[in-house]
Amino acid sequence: MRPEDILAPTPSGVCCKPGAFHIDPTRPVKRALVTHAHSDHARAGHGAVLATQETLDLMRLRYGDGFAGATQAIGYGESVSLGGVKVTFHPAGHVLGSAQIAVEANGLRIVASGDYKNVPDPTCTPFELVPCDVFITEATFALPVFRHGNPDEQIAKLLHSVGVFPERAHLVGAYSLGKAQRVIALLRKAGYVAPIYLHGAMERITRYYESRGIALGELRLVRGEKKPQLAGTVTLCPPSALNEIWARRFPEPVTAFASGWMRVRARARQQGVVLPLVISDHADWNGLTATIAATGAGDVWVTHGQEDALVHWCASHGLQARPLDIVGYGDEDETDEGDGEAQA
Ligand SMILES: [Zn+2]
Ligand SMILES: [Zn+2]
Repeated sequence: MRPEDILAPTPSGVCCKPGAFHIDPTRPVKRALVTHAHSDHARAGHGAVLATQETLDLMRLRYGDGFAGATQAIGYGESVSLGGVKVTFHPAGHVLGSAQIAVEANGLRIVASGDYKNVPDPTCTPFELVPCDVFITEATFALPVFRHGNPDEQIAKLLHSVGVFPERAHLVGAYSLGKAQRVIALLRKAGYVAPIYLHGAMERITRYYESRGIALGELRLVRGEKKPQLAGTVTLCPPSALNEIWARRFPEPVTAFASGWMRVRARARQQGVVLPLVISDHADWNGLTATIAATGAGDVWVTHGQEDALVHWCASHGLQARPLDIVGYGDEDETDEGDGEAQA
């Protein structure tokens, strides 16, 4: 049996014919296995969805109760059999509830990573290395220029600026699901105890994180606060809000943006960001290549980003590799729509 007989790449996601399911399909299907709740991976309208409880809950927050015909929750390390194919979910370390999905049949194991990172994150279960024959990896930051470095240093940079400009407000653009909560947790870890302010679009997701036992300290909504009261404070908002009228309610705001893309200076400048914070929920170049090597996979399928460089790296390290042309996986920092409700 060839790997393609178990999981076939299609333009709308990988499809398992014998198991009759798709992984992270970008169009409605009968049965979807979903790695995590980011909107390009987790779409509404499937007949049935199998995912972790957190992913199902976050999908419900975003899309409402009727987001799928039926749902089934699965825990990390748990397996189910679908049409004789064994499916197991493992932590991906990307955001709360994120999973890699291992698919096994005829002694062959294929792991679909979804999005992942192999560095510590106080807001989600750490990435687990799953040995496999075929590894389907993301490639969001798959260029050698991308080295994310230590996020604590980026947080220190932010706190230094807050100390230097006590009369100004600090606005931190951060993806609403995962990044915002991680930045808050990193601020707390660095000893920042003051209330942290939230844009309304990230309220429900952040409260959900707290309900799953992730301590984020005192959080307040910006809504209703007067301008002078926001001096010296830190506010998390969706990246798009940084350049909106919404930002005018803050006293002389210093705009920051927490993203792996902030490694590229021109990109920060172009977005009007004065305080770029290189903090990413994706593996960087070293993380991707180290993970690929450690899985022991001889065959690597690359999707979701800069496929070519990673395919080339694999080939030069004696691994078979190919890009998957799946249309519809987005760049999360650019496509944030909050928790689904437009509110200020
Ligand atoms: Zn993601
Ligand atoms: Zn993604």
